[in-house]
Amino acid sequence: MEEICKGFPLSEFTKSETAARLNINNNPSKYFKRNMQTFCPVIEYLDKVSRGRLEITSGYRSSQLNFYADGVNNSYHTIGLALDIKPGIPFHIAEKIIANIDPSITTIHYDGHIHMHKESRDRSYEAANYKSELPISSGYTHGYQVASLLLGLVIVAFAVAGVMVKFVYPMSYSTTKH
Ligand SMILES: [Zn+2]
Repeated sequence: MEEICKGFPLSEFTKSETAARLNINNNPSKYFKRNMQTFCPVIEYLDKVSRGRLEITSGYRSSQLNFYADGVNNSYHTIGLALDIKPGIPFHIAEKIIANIDPSITTIHYDGHIHMHKESRDRSYEAANYKSELPISSGYTHGYQVASLLLGLVIVAFAVAGVMVKFVYPMSYSTTKH
């Protein structure tokens, strides 16, 4: 049985009455599984303090399922970056614990559950895949490109100087030789 977090199998993150009823595929890619693991420290801790009463009410939703489940367009649930839970302890305490463990998680307190999500700069699926595969800081990439460009300019400058020494100098020299 594939586990996403300790004590929480993948099926806990993908179960959906709507998906079962409408026979909708709700299997996340490996990138989205990895995204869901960002919630592990929070749910493993909450599960411990609630003595195993934490319940995941909605985890991953494929875009098709999200559509039929009336989820918001572009929901974080469709890329594995949102998780709805019943924490098994008072909600306001759970929200404080979540903020302590991972301040980058946004929580929204609904009637029967707490919705959590994590920001990602680009919500497109390709970008989500790419980022989780290669977490490159864009600042670093930009610096690298600038350095390459400067190096290229230096090489061109040397080449031009070399051509000038070889052709322009001898010519101007020869005219004054007589
Ligand atoms: Zn939610």
